[in-house]
Amino acid sequence: MPATAQNLRDLHTLHQRARALRDRLSSGPRTLAARQAAQAARQADLDAARKSLQDAKVRTQKLEHGLKGIESKIDDLKVKLNQVKKNDEYKALQNQIAHDNNAKSKAEEDILVALEDVETRTAELARLEADVKRTAAEVAALQQQLDSQSTQHREQLRELEAAIKDAEAAIPDVHRDHYRRIVARYGADALAACEDNSCHGCYTAVTPQMINELMNGETLIFCLSCGRLLYLTEPEVSTTRRTGK
Ligand SMILES: [Zn+2]
Repeated sequence: MPATAQNLRDLHTLHQRARALRDRLSSGPRTLAARQAAQAARQADLDAARKSLQDAKVRTQKLEHGLKGIESKIDDLKVKLNQVKKNDEYKALQNQIAHDNNAKSKAEEDILVALEDVETRTAELARLEADVKRTAAEVAALQQQLDSQSTQHREQLRELEAAIKDAEAAIPDVHRDHYRRIVARYGADALAACEDNSCHGCYTAVTPQMINELMNGETLIFCLSCGRLLYLTEPEVSTTRRTGK
């Protein structure tokens, strides 16, 4: 018994639903991979920020150490100042102390700038840490969601594939090979509706002879241009039924 328009419409719908599921099954892991890559980039930013904060702290410690050196040098010079007897030595020491006091002021300014830098980087690190924590949770949630969804979708896909196999029983043996070839070529759209006297797959006009054969429903009709298996859409079938009597 040849396939009815209803059989073919159902088969086309099953193919399209299976394709939609396959698309979802493959797009999920792609989305996840993109999010994971973005997460890795954020983690790298966080690592870099942690390193630069550490460097800024080391810089500050060096400056503080340098300041201590200047201060103890000034203390030593002050001790010497009280011990020298000669006026020119006294003056030279005073000049040295004045010079070192300038260096001390400069070091103190540098330390203030360095401390501000540490503060800024500390805040930035905290912001990045919170960001990474939040997005890591989002990625984990997405992964979990995709895992449970894909199990469900794989199960649905298996059911659809079984249903497609059943529906394909309506394709007569003589047309099996051609059907396999167009499925391999067009996938879910190996079938096409014939609407307004044209193939919906390639939009080429269908001959009146083919329309008649489609209405008779005694044999399968393939588009002469693209090879797709044609079927009539519902209104055209019901018109046929009315005029056929
Ligand atoms: Zn066509």
